[in-house]
Amino acid sequence: MSYAGKNSAALQAVVVGAGIVGAATALNLQRKGFDVTIIEAESPGEGASSGNAGITASCAIVPVPVPGILKKFPFMLLDSMGPLSIDFLHVARNTKWFIDYLRHGRASEVNRIASELIKLTDGSIDEHLRLARDTGGESWVTARDYLYIYPKRRDFEEEAFAWDIRRRHGIEYEEVNATELREMEPDLAPGFSFAIRLPKHGFSLDPAKLVKGLVETFQKQGGRLLQAKAQGFEFGEMGAHTLVTDTGSIPFDRLVIATGAWSATLTRQLGVKVPLMSERGYHVQFANPGIRQNHPLMVTSGKYVATPMTNGLRLAGIVEFKPMNAPSDPKLPSRLKRHARLLFPNAKLNDCETWMGHRPSLPDSLPVIGVVPDHPNVILAFGHQHIGLSTGPRTGRFVAKLAAGEAINQDLSAFRVNRF
Ligand SMILES: Cc1cc2nc3c(=O)[nH]c(=O)nc-3n(C[C@H](O)[C@H](O)[C@H](O)COP(=O)(O)OP(=O)(O)OC[C@H]3O[C@@H](n4cnc5c(N)ncnc54)[C@H](O)[C@@H]3O)c2cc1C
Repeated sequence: MSYAGKNSAALQAVVVGAGIVGAATALNLQRKGFDVTIIEAESPGEGASSGNAGITASCAIVPVPVPGILKKFPFMLLDSMGPLSIDFLHVARNTKWFIDYLRHGRASEVNRIASELIKLTDGSIDEHLRLARDTGGESWVTARDYLYIYPKRRDFEEEAFAWDIRRRHGIEYEEVNATELREMEPDLAPGFSFAIRLPKHGFSLDPAKLVKGLVETFQKQGGRLLQAKAQGFEFGEMGAHTLVTDTGSIPFDRLVIATGAWSATLTRQLGVKVPLMSERGYHVQFANPGIRQNHPLMVTSGKYVATPMTNGLRLAGIVEFKPMNAPSDPKLPSRLKRHARLLFPNAKLNDCETWMGHRPSLPDSLPVIGVVPDHPNVILAFGHQHIGLSTGPRTGRFVAKLAAGEAINQDLSAFRVNRF
């Protein structure tokens, strides 16, 4: 589908959802001359984009399901410090999704998925810095090496499959020995004696403030932000042309649906069925922990990330498969609290807040980015699973190009809307 030849300067674009994907899309559309309105049910940057680990993870191209994952599930579930929690009734009600998810974990599929995800993750920190330059988001994102830390070198060797994929996709990394690691992170528990250092990475010092800062600048530049819940559409000969919200209807020339884990209800009304699932995740953030932490850390033994944010040390992780609207489980952030003690034995951990949010996930671990067949003015942009902060700015740039009918120098067909 192409919009080429139309003058985008006069066009009204509506973006539903003000997470990182919606905010990046809105700014990019504005920079192309569209007259843009964001519709957000809550306030900007309060969905998954607020509580994540904040890593701009160019390296995150290997999906969660990999060969052998099924055998590890029972151990993960029995481990009281493990990264996985499953509501079996929820799994039984969504068997097809889970079978599909696991089916994509075979080696050939993981390699294919990595080759697609790198189109979005490559150069993530530079993409963020470019997006945030001269906006209110600028001070909330920074370049920094990312460390994967391991108890022993052999724990790294056990992940050879994933590191081989990263290496083959051009991701640079180097080994860090115990002495070097101690110099880099003096307050880290002595149980970690090996690390991998990834240059050309970065992190957000406060992901919610990053998104809010982007949206504030969008508004200062003439963009409109309306607090409303998108509910449906009005249709004409050319498909959907008006968005219906709980506060009124808004006609559009282009509509972008960037509503993260909540997107399926809207797309269904456009005839697009997407098997979208929330992979619920948690964080615990400790104010004034009183430790030195120079790098964001992927703690491979617990499969969580520890990030030195402005408001303290944030540990984020856990995959919980449970209905979206179920209350959060207090046992899960408690696991992260116990991990914090093991990671930084001298940290002060009494002052903390906890959070639960929804990773928008599709069974093939790829997002949906593209124009809706039969509704040529509607573009979908969601399903960025564990890496939406990293990939939001590139997605926003691609979506704005799609909206303007410009060519994209990447084949995005793997992200197509009607692939399920
Ligand atoms: C624990 C955890 C750690 C993570 N760590 C990282 C990380 O380190 N790096 C990384 O890259 N990614 C990470 N992620 C993933 C990342 O947070 C998500 O992929 C990303 O935030 C998704 O962004 P989004 O804009 O698509 O969705 P969201 O941020 O969820 O935004 C969607 C918005 O749409 C709004 N909305 C929904 N329905 C409607 C409606 N009908 N009308 C109007 N508005 C609506 C919502 O209110 C919300 O504001 C992590 C996620 C979790 C849970």
